[in-house]
Amino acid sequence: MSQPIRVRFAPSPTGPLHIGGVRTALYNYLFAKKNQGTFILRIEDTDQNRYVEGAEEYIMQALEWAGMTIDEGVQQGGDFGPYRQSERGVIYKKYANTLIENGWAYKAYDTPEELQSKRDEIENWQYDATTRDTMRNSLTISEEEQKDLESKNTPFVVRFKIPTNQTVEFTDEIRGKVSVETSVLDDKVLFKADGFPTYHMANVIDDHLMEITHVIRGEEWLPSTPLHVLLYKAFGWEAPNFAHLPLILKPEGQGKLSKRDGAKFGFPVFPLNWNDKENQEEWTGYKETGFLPVAFTNFLAFLGWNPGTEQELFSLEELANSFELERVSKAGARFDYDKAKWFNQQHISKQSNEELAQLAKPYFAESGIYINNEQFNDLIDLFKERITLVNELPASSAYLFAPVSEYDEKMIRKKWKPEWSEQFENLTKKLSELNNWTAESIETCVKEFMNESGLGFGQVLPTLRLAICGTMQGPSIFHVMALIQQDEVVNRISQALPMFTELKNETK
Ligand code: GLU
Repeated sequence: MSQPIRVRFAPSPTGPLHIGGVRTALYNYLFAKKNQGTFILRIEDTDQNRYVEGAEEYIMQALEWAGMTIDEGVQQGGDFGPYRQSERGVIYKKYANTLIENGWAYKAYDTPEELQSKRDEIENWQYDATTRDTMRNSLTISEEEQKDLESKNTPFVVRFKIPTNQTVEFTDEIRGKVSVETSVLDDKVLFKADGFPTYHMANVIDDHLMEITHVIRGEEWLPSTPLHVLLYKAFGWEAPNFAHLPLILKPEGQGKLSKRDGAKFGFPVFPLNWNDKENQEEWTGYKETGFLPVAFTNFLAFLGWNPGTEQELFSLEELANSFELERVSKAGARFDYDKAKWFNQQHISKQSNEELAQLAKPYFAESGIYINNEQFNDLIDLFKERITLVNELPASSAYLFAPVSEYDEKMIRKKWKPEWSEQFENLTKKLSELNNWTAESIETCVKEFMNESGLGFGQVLPTLRLAICGTMQGPSIFHVMALIQQDEVVNRISQALPMFTELKNETK
């Protein structure tokens, strides 16, 4: 029987998760679901200097909002915990000692100043097979000297001893065969003087102990993978499969998308709002911008993957059914905010009225509008084809709740004829006498008026729209009218038309 699939998303809580990180999580999640596997969240917090408060909670909330259910993790628990690296210190120490005992690693006592002076002295200097003999480490000093240093509690790091003259080879699921000569690799620090392991060490040990079968992560980790492969060898463990995801590129297509690009081009780069206390900056998330989680995951999935068919709209479940690592591209994926909005608009129009009402309610409350469920349903039904972001709803439908504050004067000049005034007075009268205020009865009444007056659709409907909504855009005017109180509609028409006439006369 083949091994059960286990993947992990392993962020460092150094800040909010940006969309590149969410995409990595998403591909891991989709791969796990597709293969009836397990999706693990491991928090890689061994770099205490870069720890940012609130980042871990943010990561979990972002995954939850996007619908990526975590099977094992800090909150969920599981058989392979703890899932926070800062709680796994004892484990790493034991393995570091094993490597030293087996000759795969050594202790280095060089001070930061000594290392710096080497780097200043020699361009591109690195601690490696060609230089380690000249440094102060357990390979070069006597046992006595080492004991002496240790008795004085001299700080040291543990370095990996990169073997000489070897070729490291592995197959990346996305990039194919990768091969690197050990001569270019340096003796990376595995254990720091502060008693914490480095990313490389902790990452490899945890992936092994957590029985991770596929490491799916960003391209920036590809250069570290040869070291990881050697570490697996040093421990005598089988390495997992690797898949390095392409970069998400700036909208212009050159270079990696950064959070500054978001500010520059006016689109979110984080899933949820983030308050950067240190730099006193507020960042708006996709959620708060009015994106549906399903649209967010749909457009993220398409940044670097495609199903190989014409289908573009996918629920999270459909993505999971179609996802294949083989269809992830090697080339970077250009970020396109218009496309992201298109996905959102499409998903909004597919969403049920009830679901959308739930999502839209807070935005109405923010605008001070509280409506009952039945009205909400009608409103959503009318407007959902016309909005791109959920938070546009209050503004797009503002004329349902308050008198028009701004009229499209250009359109009024184009569409209104003062000589219709008298006829329209009849319409206002007819409307005010209607017993049954529904879209159907309003439509019948307006059509009757057209028959009587000889005015056509192209004359009556634009006028009504402009008088009631102030604009020519919007859903079915009869439905809009039905959602506004009868006397308010009548008032708006009676007050607007003389204004329209005045406007026309001014421009004569
Ligand atoms: N902690 C690393 C990061 O923040 C994880 C890289 C990996 O997945 O191996 O990206």
